Amino acid sequence: MILSNLRTVESTLLYRTRRVTATYFSSFNSTYTSKPCNFCRKRSSLAQVKFETEKQHIRRVSKNVKRYRTLHCTDVSKDHVGSEQLFSGWVKYVRNLGKSSFGFLVLTDHTGDLQFVLRDQNKSDHQKDSFSNVITPDGFLWSDVTAQSAMTIRGMVLNRPATDVNREMESGAFEVLINEVLFCNSSAPVPFNIYKPQSLVREDIRLQYRYLDLRRQEMQKVLRFRSSVMHKMRRVLVEKLFFTEIETPTLFRSSPGGAKEFLVPSQQPDHYFALTQSPQQLKQLLMVGMVDRYFQFAKCYRDESQFSDRQLEFTQLDLEVSFESKEFIQDVIERIIWETWPSEISIQPRIPFKRMSYDEVFSNYGTDKPDLRYEDIKLMKVPSDLLRKLNNPVLDQHLNAGYGGHGLLIKNGQKMTRASVKKNVQIIEKELRWMVSVVNIGQNGRWHHHPFQKAENETVDDLNLLFKSEEGDILFLCCGPEDLVCTMLGRVRANMIENLREVSKFYRRNERDFRFLWVEDFPLFERRVDNDKEMWVASHHPFTAPRQDDMEFLESDPSKVRGQHFDLVLNGNEIAGGSMRISDSKVQQKILGDILKLDCSNFQYLIDALSYGAPVHGGIAIGLDRYFAMILGKKSIRDVIAFPKSNKTGACLMSDAPSRIELGGYGADFTFKI
Ligand code: ASP
Repeated sequence: MILSNLRTVESTLLYRTRRVTATYFSSFNSTYTSKPCNFCRKRSSLAQVKFETEKQHIRRVSKNVKRYRTLHCTDVSKDHVGSEQLFSGWVKYVRNLGKSSFGFLVLTDHTGDLQFVLRDQNKSDHQKDSFSNVITPDGFLWSDVTAQSAMTIRGMVLNRPATDVNREMESGAFEVLINEVLFCNSSAPVPFNIYKPQSLVREDIRLQYRYLDLRRQEMQKVLRFRSSVMHKMRRVLVEKLFFTEIETPTLFRSSPGGAKEFLVPSQQPDHYFALTQSPQQLKQLLMVGMVDRYFQFAKCYRDESQFSDRQLEFTQLDLEVSFESKEFIQDVIERIIWETWPSEISIQPRIPFKRMSYDEVFSNYGTDKPDLRYEDIKLMKVPSDLLRKLNNPVLDQHLNAGYGGHGLLIKNGQKMTRASVKKNVQIIEKELRWMVSVVNIGQNGRWHHHPFQKAENETVDDLNLLFKSEEGDILFLCCGPEDLVCTMLGRVRANMIENLREVSKFYRRNERDFRFLWVEDFPLFERRVDNDKEMWVASHHPFTAPRQDDMEFLESDPSKVRGQHFDLVLNGNEIAGGSMRISDSKVQQKILGDILKLDCSNFQYLIDALSYGAPVHGGIAIGLDRYFAMILGKKSIRDVIAFPKSNKTGACLMSDAPSRIELGGYGADFTFKI
């Protein structure tokens, strides 16, 4: 009773907070605020920080410091015409105009391009010497200036003659007359054309020469975008929500039972550190240590080289809070996303995000991460008596075994060729070892190419009515164990949508339509078979608290226990996962030792810590690489990471790591410091 009252008060508070935030946050991007936080009603001390302006800074340092740049390439404007400026960047193109006394080059920096001209003052057009021998005023040979050389140029900003204005170029109304070359470091011929579209250059070449690939404007935009969003996230967390940023070690103790770990040898023979899969246990220990609200941009290490779009090391925005509820954590995440949402991408997503239980998403979509842009395409239960009337012996066999059936209607499914539908279904059938029946809907609802030849017309009509099927659609039917049937149809659904997006307007969605969804109440454990041994494994991690109302099943039937876990899904991808944690050391010990059958000695420090008055606590982590890849519309997370590993081998193609090391070589006679 008291609890339910508390919940009402809490949700009213959250609701109010959201309404207030709509106006309150709109000023956030431009100014630091000293308004009190809605969550804790404290004032930010950082609000008082004053920064030197750029002009003040330049005035202060330029007296003593040699300068290489006064403007970036696309910063030139009509106000600069006639003035001398310093530019630094890389040569995009260079042209010597044969024997005439003009040379051009285009310099590029992260803002864009700018054209420079060299006029050899000492030569007339009549002189026949090759221009490539011209020595620039500073003594550099013009012929040394190759594409991708790094240069610093002092020059006079000029208007281009009206006929030469280049409207395709941001700075195309201007050019700079070179007065002096202050620095030129010629580039060797580059191994690929940096300015070719990314898709036309092999990814392994781009990764091998990543430092050159980073000179692409697109990569520059991504890195700067990432930095700017992370900066805003940090500000929201520190200044608005009063989180404390704390770094935790990445060399830690191995925690068996999770992902495959990277081990690091230590000074002690046969003793290893493990690189942290995430700061999970450390952040919980911070909560025991009286840190109320922790966050960090954490590096995580998991040996997942077998997955195509995962990286061995990746970054999470990791946070943990104590004496707060699940709703508080969800609200924090919604606020971070809402406040840091880049307006250039799309309008801010609506908060609060939609919430569904695991059971609901799984029975409707056959997956725990549905893409809500296709919310209406759902699996449907089919009454067994209807299925029986299809008169199919295999189906009857399954029905007699007590299984139920589900169906899935894919509108316009026949836009895909029959052969490719069949191929896709066969792959799924082979993998999950169960069968799906495919029915093509023809004119007047007639069924074609299906395994139900003995079905009565009336049954066909009833099923058409149930699924609202029309000519050109495909109906998939499956009967068997519910989990398996939903998984199969879920895979078929995702596969069909993916393929139909290419060929049917009906399936095209705005790439800038971002639908967030909280999925909650997952089962706490999964049954797995490993080496012929059946066992329970944690669906997420073993520190997630069971739901209070399912505690009674912990011993009697672990399959019935739901966890206090929640995932955040964006357009069909899991981008964050979190939970309320176990704060009772006895429950933690029972789950680790008795149910998961893990060696508790590996977690003794955590079990001990929980026994010293651990607070109620919970947290979450956003997978930043995936989040950025999604909102930037990138196919791979490698496109949003400065130095990613290869997806095929997990190796760093640039440094050729991992590299062979003769361990004997390390030791007293071979030490160095970095
Ligand atoms: N440590 C978890 C993960 O890496 C996230 C969390 O539960 O906070 O998925």
